[in-house]
Amino acid sequence: MSEVFQIIRGGRLLDIATRTAEFADILVRGNVIAEIGPAGLAAPDGAVVVAAADRLLMPGLVNGHTHGNSSLAKGMGDRGTLELLLNSHPWTGAGFTQEDKYLAAKLTACELVLGGCTACLDMFAEGPAPSREGLEAAGQAYMDVGMRAVVAPMMSTRGLWQAIPGLYDALPEELQALADTLQAGPGTASIEICRDALHNWPHDPSRVKLGLGPTIPHHCDEAFWHACRDLACEYGALMQTHLAESKVQAVASQKLYGMSLAAFLDAQGVLGPNLVAAHAIWLTGDDMRLLADRGVSVSHNPMSNLRLGSGVAATVAMRAAGINVAIGTDTCTCADALNMFEATRLACTLSRVQGPDYEQWLESAQALEMATAAGARALGWEGEIGRIAPGYKADIVMLDLNNLSYVPLNEPINQIVFAEDRGGVRDVMIDGRMVVRDGSVTTVDMDKLRADVEAAVERMAPARAAARERVEGLAVHVGPFCAGFAAQDHPVNRFVGAV
Ligand SMILES: [Zn+2]
Repeated sequence: MSEVFQIIRGGRLLDIATRTAEFADILVRGNVIAEIGPAGLAAPDGAVVVAAADRLLMPGLVNGHTHGNSSLAKGMGDRGTLELLLNSHPWTGAGFTQEDKYLAAKLTACELVLGGCTACLDMFAEGPAPSREGLEAAGQAYMDVGMRAVVAPMMSTRGLWQAIPGLYDALPEELQALADTLQAGPGTASIEICRDALHNWPHDPSRVKLGLGPTIPHHCDEAFWHACRDLACEYGALMQTHLAESKVQAVASQKLYGMSLAAFLDAQGVLGPNLVAAHAIWLTGDDMRLLADRGVSVSHNPMSNLRLGSGVAATVAMRAAGINVAIGTDTCTCADALNMFEATRLACTLSRVQGPDYEQWLESAQALEMATAAGARALGWEGEIGRIAPGYKADIVMLDLNNLSYVPLNEPINQIVFAEDRGGVRDVMIDGRMVVRDGSVTTVDMDKLRADVEAAVERMAPARAAARERVEGLAVHVGPFCAGFAAQDHPVNRFVGAV
């Protein structure tokens, strides 16, 4: 970046470590925070003044797990498990074109930045396999909105119906034939597409980088895991997988491999600091120690976990084991609002149903650290984002202190974590650029975006209706089968409130 200076004046700067919010000015040079000082901090001639009176300045939130492709399916599911959600993908994603991929990622990015989120890990899904064009389009959407992202193509080598022991056999014959047509793309082709995309990635990787997203451990065969591991190593790419998200998955792993999913991944040599495990609900204590030893990060996605009835992740135990636990929203079809403040509040409060010793519960400041610095570490940007400090990228969220969540301002961190619903987000700077100003996205014509989205879903409607009719026949079998499957004994319990 050129030597363009901006000086953010008059705001109160949140200090998570000391739980204070004193008045401070921030000098930004290009895309980097150059200096922080008391009100009236000197700035070079010509520095652009960003007025921040009545603003509470906090680091941008880092979202450890979402799926940008699903935003066009917002609100399309109600009561149902993860397995029923996976079963619905063929219809919620039906008619999804190349243009829709850009549009969906753009809609996701806009919603996230308006909610104070400045970086995300997007496990972007294209069916049945990723495409270089689709990944580049998703990346372009984040670039155009001005948000940071890791785009990790979601991939598998077997479909849901083949991945759960006994499910395929429980389907009537005609539905087995349907399940056969819904198979995942061949792993070798997906790997070659990813290699090509990694090699030719057109976007600035400090802004939007490409990762890999082998979706669920037992939905990918061993050779595919090895290929992902080697490709990630070759290109220094981040990987994300959904780890032990549901009890069905944890039980399936025991039947398939005679070991936990975490142990299975370790046997494939994929556990390492470049892996972000999404959800990580049904882990044993040994699994947690294994993830900690290998330096794996976890993205805790509490709204999704509740909405899909997946269970309550043992965040207190994971943190105690030494795992870097970040926070994520997950996607519009299971955590509809893509609201990192909501996810952070839930992460904090759900830590408090995990035992009677309140000193083990998360404090608000710890939850906010998870949503910022821990997320930065998970996404491979530790030391660059997640804090407001000299040398860090200028990713700064400015909350409106006139919002009633902050009136009166007693304990800023408590009020952010327990009261903020994202309605207080007024301005958002990412990489030194004002991406949100006075509550509006500056980089996107929102009226056009809304119209384009409405036109896209209208066009998709017939394809969706036809696909829905087909796969709802499967849902009738998948739902009860998986509920019965999950009723089996398992060494850990992550459901709560049972009598
Ligand atoms: Zn997910």
